[in-house]
Amino acid sequence: MIRNFINGEYREGRTGRTFDDTNPVDGSLIDNVSEAAREDVDDAVRAAREALSGPWGSLKLAQRCDLLYAVAAEIDRRAEDFIAAEIADTGKPRSLASHLDIPRGAANFRVFADVVRNVPTESFASHAPDGKPALNYASRRPKGVVAVVCPWNLPLLLMTWKVGPALACGNTVVVKPSEETPATAALLGEVMNAVGIPKGVYNVVHGFGPDSAGEFLTTHPGIDAITFTGETRTGAAIIRASAAGIKPVSMELGGKNAAVVFDDADLDVTIAGLARSVFENTGQVCLGTERVYVQRSVFDAVVQKLADAAARLKPGHANDPDANFGPLISAEHQKKVLDYYALAKTDGAKVITGGGIPELSSSMKGGSWIEPTIWTGLAHGSRVASEEIFGPCCVVIPFDTEKEALHMANDTPYGLAASVYTRDIDRAHRFAGALKVGVVWVNTWFLRDLRTAFGGSGASGIGREGGVHSLEFYTELSNICIKLNGEAQ
Ligand code: NAD
Repeated sequence: MIRNFINGEYREGRTGRTFDDTNPVDGSLIDNVSEAAREDVDDAVRAAREALSGPWGSLKLAQRCDLLYAVAAEIDRRAEDFIAAEIADTGKPRSLASHLDIPRGAANFRVFADVVRNVPTESFASHAPDGKPALNYASRRPKGVVAVVCPWNLPLLLMTWKVGPALACGNTVVVKPSEETPATAALLGEVMNAVGIPKGVYNVVHGFGPDSAGEFLTTHPGIDAITFTGETRTGAAIIRASAAGIKPVSMELGGKNAAVVFDDADLDVTIAGLARSVFENTGQVCLGTERVYVQRSVFDAVVQKLADAAARLKPGHANDPDANFGPLISAEHQKKVLDYYALAKTDGAKVITGGGIPELSSSMKGGSWIEPTIWTGLAHGSRVASEEIFGPCCVVIPFDTEKEALHMANDTPYGLAASVYTRDIDRAHRFAGALKVGVVWVNTWFLRDLRTAFGGSGASGIGREGGVHSLEFYTELSNICIKLNGEAQ
């Protein structure tokens, strides 16, 4: 059984209930998960609060960072355990988990330990009205107990993206992993104990959203901040819940990201980027592309080459070395994506490839499989071209002018990410700067430097994390002003 991790110990939840953790490759049961009760969340928050004033709070910065480097090293050492847990929960290809999810899980501790060690302190010298000098400097202290609520698409990666900087800044955390992917968050508790992270610093409560661990945690009066990654609608519910206690929130929400391909683009580079951004992780990446705008003279070539790339995707078990395409996370999500596939047809889309469930071997029959899908013939503004589907699919739409492409790319309530393919350096800068999103890639996709700002605008979120930007959220800043009254002796 996967249990809650509270105050350094694995505990069964006081609901007495469990829920199933299933493998989306074939629908088989991986394990039962013990659901936390409100009292368990109370215990987790209390443990986190006590750890702040206990041994964790009294560590020197360098000691805290050394512990985080040790966490990273222990994740590396136990990489096989983390990969096994992640691929069982998500069905994603082993190659993806071993190259992306798990190494990034470790990097999130290393990078943010480096960031907090190297951040300078803001300081201003000024004068008082009597002419005496004054010195202002900024002082940062941890926010306190941070609630971390996570999605299922990149479970360890996105959870540690919050836990790493939160701990680096001296906070303690209570994590609510997605009910679909509880395993790696639970495993991280073993790592914390193994390297000597004091008890209560890292806590995990399992359950669902409303009327369960997610709501109990985000409405808890004992937390000091909430950091959330997930759907825009859920983010709105959490913001409402946070209002009563005036809790600071960081929101990394949904997207409907555009890629824009100009006729001077290197098509091999373009297709390599597009194929990843549309199909990687079976399209379940918040930064993924679901709208592709292509300049008319290269439209047919891009559609054909992207369809060729889709044809090279091979669904299969995560450990099958020939497989490079996993299932969707759940039958429920598969139904949502299939509903959009049906809607595309109703709206008159031309289905270039895919559009349904692939032929499956008998060992994959109970899984949540879906075909990679490309549509043309849909209007910009149609529901399929406007709403986040979160599947391996895209609408390809032609354009004639840069102005038209910019209008369509920006014509969305979302503002998370975009990619631009062109060899014209002037256009690259001009166009990238005019896109109303938090992250732009030019001639690539998902190339991340963790020191850079990350986040979305509009319906894609509030705030930026990454590098020093994470410090803005995970610390409370005070300005200290000292008047120097003395005279030189
Ligand atoms: P989700 O919003 O359904 O769930 C996320 C988490 O919130 C889960 O742990 C869930 O149990 C919890 N939750 C649900 N309702 C809650 C409530 N009322 N109160 C407290 N907690 C609640 O999202 P998901 O389906 O797990 O993830 C997919 C979504 O995440 C997509 O929309 C995707 O774009 C988004 N996402 C965004 C980013 C980003 O960085 N912007 C990254 C990854 C995923």
